[in-house]
Amino acid sequence: MLRLYNTLTRREEPFEPQRDNTVRMYACGPTVYARAHIGNFRTFVCLDVLRRTMKYLCGHAVHEAVNYTDVDDKTIAGSQAAGLPLRDYTDKWIVAYREDSDTLGIETPEETPRATDEANLRAMSDMILALEKNGHTYRRDGSIYFKISTMPQYGKLAHLDVAGMKDGARVDVDEYTKDDPRDFVLWKATKPGEPTWDFGAGPGRPGWHIECSAMALRLLGEPPIDIHAGGIDLIFPHHENEIAQSEGATNHEFARFWVHVEHLFVENEKMSKSLGNVYTLAEIRERGHRPSALRYLLLSSHYRKQLNFTWTGMDQAEEAIRRMVDFLARLEDVPPSPEGFGAAGIGDGSHPHVAKSIATARAAFKDALEHDLNTAAALAAVFELVRDVNAAIDAKAISKAESQDVQKALEDFDRVLGVISLRRAEDAEPPVAVEEIEKLIEDRKAARHRRDFAAADRIRSELAERGILLEDNPGGTRWKKK
Ligand code: AMP
Ligand code: ZN
Repeated sequence: MLRLYNTLTRREEPFEPQRDNTVRMYACGPTVYARAHIGNFRTFVCLDVLRRTMKYLCGHAVHEAVNYTDVDDKTIAGSQAAGLPLRDYTDKWIVAYREDSDTLGIETPEETPRATDEANLRAMSDMILALEKNGHTYRRDGSIYFKISTMPQYGKLAHLDVAGMKDGARVDVDEYTKDDPRDFVLWKATKPGEPTWDFGAGPGRPGWHIECSAMALRLLGEPPIDIHAGGIDLIFPHHENEIAQSEGATNHEFARFWVHVEHLFVENEKMSKSLGNVYTLAEIRERGHRPSALRYLLLSSHYRKQLNFTWTGMDQAEEAIRRMVDFLARLEDVPPSPEGFGAAGIGDGSHPHVAKSIATARAAFKDALEHDLNTAAALAAVFELVRDVNAAIDAKAISKAESQDVQKALEDFDRVLGVISLRRAEDAEPPVAVEEIEKLIEDRKAARHRRDFAAADRIRSELAERGILLEDNPGGTRWKKK
């Protein structure tokens, strides 16, 4: 059974969904005011592997919501600077996020709500009114605040000593006046030039924390939901405040398991937009690396350990995937039995060692992931199998049927890891757009026609550098990938 570390209890606990074998899971999604960076994607890729583990290894169904935070100080400031309505401005970043997320092989969650969808804004208002009814709020200058002194259990997730709590960098200390600096805003009074809605809580816009509480409960049903997840920086105050809001409004536990992914670092500093040390997926590709290698790198260490991003690490990830791909090609080349390697086997041409290696790898892979999603150990199990079976191929001690069993095992592993399938899709895509290749072939033809062979050669060699080879045949010029 899957064991997951639960931030709420600070322990690893056996995990199963509470109802209908369906995991109801919410992950805080991107704030859509810029392209997400690969630190953000560490969180999303690790949570994708959690989702896939539960689906493909544990046999659960998954109902997952990942939101777009499309209204907050940053999105509003960005839309004002761009001179665009908020929704149009954030549309662009949502498209960019989806593109990168697909390119990294992240499965699309069942629900991808936007905070400014009307149904969500209504759910936020309703939740605030329920909190008001339960005595957890106060109003000041048109804004509504959560009064944390009304929640004795406040601090249970972050394990805070609330009495001694100081205002941290991310505590919402803004120009709105509060009774107590620890209180946080639920609904912000309208300010000039800012978007504003009124669905019962008065004119204004939602605070960040209420968005997630309301969307999680609206989309995933009766509390408690099974898993709430995000990056580790969200434990406090965001997730603590989500608990206060959801539990204050419903009087039920909000989420059973809280899963937090450690940060991606660069040169031993957290990768974050405010530090300016971020890389986007596009920048990784510009340096000649494949998204599959980034996905691999992000999975190469346990999600609760810090991971330091380096270019050497990217090279090693490329190399690791190349080993897997080469290995798969070698399996393809195992000739059919009995003429092939199978003839060297015992009795019926079988090699018990191969079946044993497969069984060992399958068990080790499952164990690793079931043990709090240990992707590093799962990858080690895959490479153990690669090593064993490479030796069997060298010794011609494997039959075609056995090689197919190995392929099947690797396919099953990859349903969870999602690396090889991604690499295959990348290989199927030419590194230069087909239209561009075709246009360059035409340009080259024209250059040759006017006897400008230097220009024609330049086109050929530039394309070769970008991974496309041209072949001249009597019928015309054809291209292929290097
Ligand atoms: P944001 O777009 O800032 O709301 O962040 C989206 C997600 O990325 C949140 O779950 C963050 O906790 C997570 N995140 C931000 N920076 C990093 C990082 N350097 N490493 C891993 N996750 C991060
Ligand atoms: Zn959230």
